[in-house]
Amino acid sequence: MSQRPNIVFIMSDDHAAHAISAYGSKVNETPHLDRIAQDGVRMDAVYCTNSVCTPSRASILTGTYSHVNGCATIFAEFDHRVPTYSQVLQNAGYKTAIFGKWHLGESEVAQPRGFDDWKIFPGQGVYIDPPMISAEGESQEKGYATDIVTDLSLNWLNKQREEAPDAPFCLMIHHKAPHRPWVPDEKHKHLYPVGTIPEPDTLFDDHSTMSRAVQAVRMTIADDLTATDTKEELPEELKGEDARVERTRWNYQRYMRDYLQTIQSIDDNVGRVLDYLDEHGLSENTVVVYTSDQGFFLGDHGWYDKRLMFDQSLLMPMLIRWPEEIAAGSRCGAMVTNVDFAATFLDMCGIDYKKELPSQQGESFRALLRGEDVAGWQESVYYRYWEHDDPNHHVPAHYGVRTQRYKYIDYYGDGLGAPGASDRIFEREYELYDLEKDPEELTNVVDDPAYAEVLTMMRAELARLQEKVGDYPYTGPGSGHPEWNEEATQQFS
Ligand code: CA
Repeated sequence: MSQRPNIVFIMSDDHAAHAISAYGSKVNETPHLDRIAQDGVRMDAVYCTNSVCTPSRASILTGTYSHVNGCATIFAEFDHRVPTYSQVLQNAGYKTAIFGKWHLGESEVAQPRGFDDWKIFPGQGVYIDPPMISAEGESQEKGYATDIVTDLSLNWLNKQREEAPDAPFCLMIHHKAPHRPWVPDEKHKHLYPVGTIPEPDTLFDDHSTMSRAVQAVRMTIADDLTATDTKEELPEELKGEDARVERTRWNYQRYMRDYLQTIQSIDDNVGRVLDYLDEHGLSENTVVVYTSDQGFFLGDHGWYDKRLMFDQSLLMPMLIRWPEEIAAGSRCGAMVTNVDFAATFLDMCGIDYKKELPSQQGESFRALLRGEDVAGWQESVYYRYWEHDDPNHHVPAHYGVRTQRYKYIDYYGDGLGAPGASDRIFEREYELYDLEKDPEELTNVVDDPAYAEVLTMMRAELARLQEKVGDYPYTGPGSGHPEWNEEATQQFS
């Protein structure tokens, strides 16, 4: 039997797959991320089950949906009675550490557990000279966040190799970048200059067939980016309604320049980690995973940010290298979600996840990474975005289902008032997209009689998935907010 593998799990924040050259990016080059894809597998259908930071991180750690782990919004703190895969790994003799973004609460009760070592940013963290928190208390770091997180990680690996050279390890390198407000490192400020970044085909989508609640979201490049985002004041002549097209272009070039520059630092630092593993003979027996907590709109549909179920936001990049088991340059199109990560990581480490982490709800996709077919593997994924009164983004609460061919979305909130509240503006609305005929998701066909049968089928599938994962449909004010699973919380309490 071969030695148990190590895991290096690199996760960035808001890095869309279409800003990685291994995924065919039209806007940037990421040579070091591409190394992982060339030596391993590119996952093409990894979906987030709730496309915002805190919920995605909670789902990844625990292998559960938001309604089970209780982290349904970015305002939630992590409840440690819900067991995590890192606790299981630690109990199994793995050395565990996390550095960088945590964003599951920094109060004493919500700080990382199940880690031998950790050092995290409070809240969202900052890019330059970030404060950090560890078991020893607060510290003030000097330098650029992405470099600092990598330095801490490599220093930890050095220490590990001295103190416990025979113990397998799981190291989580979790970057703040490329999250808003996209502050680049000084040395990358010459890259991707304004005027050179290709625009997406749907930059001027008029959203005419979408639900009204979606039409009203405040994530438009034209009107919702601020001078903090673009790092300069919008010129007077671009402020009027008739300058919308030019304003969109002006804002797009600036926020994308900075977004891509922060990604350059991630790519450089991923290169440092890969080099370290090579130089220390660790590459063969270390699983290297690169992902982001969810996707991001890169001007697609005229938007930035995430939250909605459109593919650019829903899709997570995922590159995995594991020479012992995964063929170099392979592709995997099976549908998986962030709820499946915990099961997969434990399975890779030879741990019976159904026995050791019974609360988790995912399935291991380890066999799929080897290119094997898994009978009965999921062909649809469930999504639910719980926030409905976000004062900044005005995204409606909604849930839905994506299959390989179709996507159905039920917006039961309206993004402004809570469902049922007196300030509610929009009634419940629905969308249906045929991803084969309309891969850009520009035409909502929910009212098209030709899709009546598809609509019935997708609504039934949504109901089936909701029941399967233990969630409830929204039926009116006060409904649809199940308590997190009490039983799931007993294992390590
Ligand atoms: Ca995020």
